[in-house]
Amino acid sequence: PTLTIASRSHEYPVYIDQDIRFHTFNLINAQLSHPASAYMIVADKNVADYYLTEVLSSFPESKKPFVSLIPSGESSKTFDMYHQLLTEALENGLDRQSVIIALGGGVTGDLAGFTAATYMRGIQYVQMPTTLLAHDSSVGGKTGINHAHGKNLIGAFHPPAAVIYDSEMLRTLPIQEWRSGFAEVIKHGFIAEPELLDWLERNITDLSHIPSEKINELLERSIRIKAHIVEEDEKEQGVRAYLNFGHTLGHSIEAEVGYGHMTHGEAVAIGMSFALKLSERLLGSKLSYNRILDYMKTLGYSLQIPSGCAHDQLIVRMRRDKKSSHNDINYVLLHSIGQPQLVKVSEEDILRLLEEEGNLR
Ligand code: NAD
Ligand code: ZN
Repeated sequence: PTLTIASRSHEYPVYIDQDIRFHTFNLINAQLSHPASAYMIVADKNVADYYLTEVLSSFPESKKPFVSLIPSGESSKTFDMYHQLLTEALENGLDRQSVIIALGGGVTGDLAGFTAATYMRGIQYVQMPTTLLAHDSSVGGKTGINHAHGKNLIGAFHPPAAVIYDSEMLRTLPIQEWRSGFAEVIKHGFIAEPELLDWLERNITDLSHIPSEKINELLERSIRIKAHIVEEDEKEQGVRAYLNFGHTLGHSIEAEVGYGHMTHGEAVAIGMSFALKLSERLLGSKLSYNRILDYMKTLGYSLQIPSGCAHDQLIVRMRRDKKSSHNDINYVLLHSIGQPQLVKVSEEDILRLLEEEGNLR
């Protein structure tokens, strides 16, 4: 494997390469302590149109998985869809020795992973991520679905048995989805590895034309950082909180603009730009961020807070999300690039910078 990740319960391999979807069956079975009794592929409909036949072709006739297709998009992370997958698993005779395979982006991985985490008290599952953003969601073991009260409120820790990342499958990804996932790569650079940012600037200048070997290297480097962080701190708090860099404002913007109107990463990019400025102001950090923000703009990110977002509404949402005490919001700031710190920031300080940024428009 390209990488091996240690979770509390087991170690799992991450394979990253071109065209490994054609070897799905063998890669999975290299990993199982005993043969699987049955396989269930949960696939995003969009993704299935492109790649399902090829993935299925790796399975021998007697071991063909049964397939559950889910509609693409965040609206599939529901109780209804979860219930439907459980029903299909039961009707098709999945047992404790069976394996679920998630073929799709973060939505598919979270939903199929949560199904695996709870079906008969937990069965094994394999992530086959097909988006760049899913490099972030496929490792770390978090699975879950949404509730009308909010995103990802129902979930479980259930690390996969393996991650099979065929970088060729990213070829069909729309440009805004590249931008969404790439923001998380940049985030990993900001919170842990300034050299990654330098490498990105030198090697990735156009998100719609990245050579395969660069995609592989990008995935490997970014997953390695995420893996280090979650290995240190599997169950939140501590260093894992640093992964929220850019997300406090990012989540609020995403929700304010309306899910589906802006990708997650595009909102996080705005949040990171804001957090850099807040870091200089409150910690006196010298981050020299202009170059990297310019780089992000050349990749197509708009780093301005959308004009439709009322500042007081953003604060209300941040408060709900990350409130620490009466008037403070827990914020990930940077001492220097690669040196994050969790800081209680007053709502007044946030509001003031929001206003100033708004006036610059
Ligand atoms: P997604 O799964 O909805 O995929 C985005 C879009 O791309 C969809 O329309 C999908 O059909 C399409 N698509 C996927 N692969 C494609 C391909 N190869 N070619 C063409 N189109 C393709 O979204 P996402 O951005 O991958 O993931 C977002 C989800 O991940 C959110 O629900 C978020 O909560 C979750 N997430 C989870 C974690 C975690 O730790 N578990 C971390 C970050 C995000
Ligand atoms: Zn994110």
